[in-house]
Amino acid sequence: MVESAVMEKPTKGSSTILKLDAAVIGAGVAGLYQLYRLRKQGLTVKAFDTASNVGGTWYWNRYPGARFDSEAYIYQYFFSEEIYKGWSWSERFPAQPEIERWMNYVADRCDLRKDIEFSTTIKSAHYNDDTGRWTLETDTGLTIDTQFLIACCGMLSAPLTSSFQGQDSFKGKIFHTARWPKDNIDLSGKRVGVIGNGATGIQVIQTIADKVGHLKVFVRTPQYVIAMQNPKYNDNDVAAYKARFDELKKTLPHTFSGFEYDFVEDSWKDLTPEKRQEILEALWNDGSLKLWLASFSELFFDPAVNEVVSEFVRGKMRERLKDPALCDLLIPTDYGFGTHRVPLETNYLEAYLRPNVELVSVKNNPIECITPEGIKTADGTVHELDVIILATGFDAGTGALTRIDIRGRDGRSLKEDWGNDIRTNMGLQVHGYPNLFTTGAPLAPSAALCNMTTCLQQQVDWISDCIQYLRDNNLNVIETTKEAEDAWVEHHDAIANQTLVTKTNSWYMGSNVSGKPRRLLSYIGGVGAYRQKCDEATADAYSGFDKR
Ligand code: NAP
Repeated sequence: MVESAVMEKPTKGSSTILKLDAAVIGAGVAGLYQLYRLRKQGLTVKAFDTASNVGGTWYWNRYPGARFDSEAYIYQYFFSEEIYKGWSWSERFPAQPEIERWMNYVADRCDLRKDIEFSTTIKSAHYNDDTGRWTLETDTGLTIDTQFLIACCGMLSAPLTSSFQGQDSFKGKIFHTARWPKDNIDLSGKRVGVIGNGATGIQVIQTIADKVGHLKVFVRTPQYVIAMQNPKYNDNDVAAYKARFDELKKTLPHTFSGFEYDFVEDSWKDLTPEKRQEILEALWNDGSLKLWLASFSELFFDPAVNEVVSEFVRGKMRERLKDPALCDLLIPTDYGFGTHRVPLETNYLEAYLRPNVELVSVKNNPIECITPEGIKTADGTVHELDVIILATGFDAGTGALTRIDIRGRDGRSLKEDWGNDIRTNMGLQVHGYPNLFTTGAPLAPSAALCNMTTCLQQQVDWISDCIQYLRDNNLNVIETTKEAEDAWVEHHDAIANQTLVTKTNSWYMGSNVSGKPRRLLSYIGGVGAYRQKCDEATADAYSGFDKR
C-alpha cells in the first residue's frame, strides 16, 4: 500500500510546506483517476480542488435538470471491472444527483479522499528552471513544491458568470448554472428569466417551465435538438450492460468520438434518398447523440449533405412546435446541424407552448444590461424578474488554466501565451512549460468531441506512463519541443479547416469569449486516430518531447 503524502501544518514564514512528486489540480473524472494511477505507481501525490467534494463538473453543475447526454454505461471508468460492476445505473441518461453519488462511490472505493485537499484553490504555479520543479500557492496559504503538475481542471469549468453590466444591481437573485447552490431554490410562483439555450439552458428550461410562475427565455441563437429516449433500467437491463464490460472497454477507445457507435459505413453518395431517410429516421429514433456522432461523416464536411440532415432535424422540430412564429425563432437556419454541440432534450420545445412561458428573441434586440428590476433589452424594455438564471456557458478549454497564474520557463505566462495563440502538443503539454501535463485541454478530442470518460482516461494513462518512463530512465524533466507542438497544431488545423465546424460560431471555436483567439478547441481527427498518435510518441521513447 502506498503511503499518502504527509501534510505539514503551515508554519508562519516557512516557504515549503508540502513536497510532492506530483500535484493534481481537480478532483473530477480525470483528477480522480490521475490520483489513483500515480499513487499506484508509488508517487507522493495529492489532488487539490476548489470544491468541498469530488465530482468536478458533476459537483458544480447541480442546476435543475442537469443530466448526462452520454449513456451512463459508457460514461464510466474502465480501469476496474469490480468498480464498473459494483454500481448500477437507474436509467440510460441519469441526472446529476445520481452521477455525483457515483463519483463519490468511485472515490470511496479507491480510498482517494485522504489524498485530496478540498476547498483549496491553486492560485499560482511557477516553474523553477534551476530545480526543474513547480511551486504552487493556494488560497489557503499552502505552498506546494512538486516535480510534476497535472492540470485536470476540466474543459468546461470556468463559467462565464459576469456577462452583463449591472448584474450587481439586480434586486432579485442571479444564479449561474455552473455555480448552482446546494440548497433547494424555490422557484414556484416566481418570475424567472433564463439567458442561454445551449445544452445547459435547454435542460433548465424544460425542467422548470412547469414549476415557475412565469418564465422568460432570452434566445439569441436557436439550437438543433434531438429528443432524448431515456428508459428506466430494470435488473435485466443492468445485468445486460454489465455483461458488456469487456466489449465496451475494447470498443470505446477506438471509435470516432469515444462512444460505442461510429459513423455509418455506407457512403452518402452511394445511397438512395429513401435509404438515407430510413437511416436518419432510425438514428433519430434512438434518441441519443447517434444522429450527430454515428450518422453520415459527410455531414461534417459537405454543405449539401449537411443541409439535408439539417432539414431533416428542422422537420422534426416543426412537427412539434407547430406555431410558425415559434418555428422562426427556435429552428436554426443560418448554420448547419452538428457544427457545434447538439443537445438532447425532453419536452424542451413543448415548454414554449405553455401559457406561462414566453420567448424573448434577443438576436436583433440584444440584452443591454441588467437593472435592479430585471433584464433590459436594446429597445428599452425592462423585463421584470425575481430570478435570473445565467446559462451562458464557459471559457472552455483554456479558461480553467488561464485563471491560475501559471508561469513556465523564464517566467512566461500561459495566460499571455494562450491569449495570443492557443497551442499544445496533443493537448498534453505546452512548449515552455516543462513537467506540466494537461487533460481536457485544447487540441485533443477531450476538449469537446468525445465521450469525456473515454478520452480523459486515455490521457491520464498516457501521462502516467510517461511519468513512469521518466522515473525508469532516471530522467527528471520533460517538455514538448516547439517543432513537435508546431507540427501538431498544423495537423490539427489541417483537419479542422476541412470541416464545417470551423465555420460556425460557438464555444468550440472560442467565439463565445470576446478576444479569445479563434481555433477549434477540440481535435477532430477522431478519438482512435488521436490515441494512435499518442501511442506512436510513447513507442518512440516520447519523440517530440525533450527529456533530461
Ligand atoms: P453554451 O453552449 O456556450 O451556451 C451558452 C448560451 O448562452 C448560448 O445560448 C448563448 O447564445 C447564450 N448567451 C451567452 N451570452 C449571451 C448574451 N450576451 N445574450 C444572449 N445569449 C447569450 O453553454 P452551455 O449550455 O453551458 O453548454 C456548454 C457545454 O457544456 C455544452 O456544449 C456541452 O458540451 C456541455 N454540457 C453537457 C451536458 C450533458 O452532457 N448533459 C449538459 C449541459 C452542458 P449564443 O449561442 O447566441 O452565443
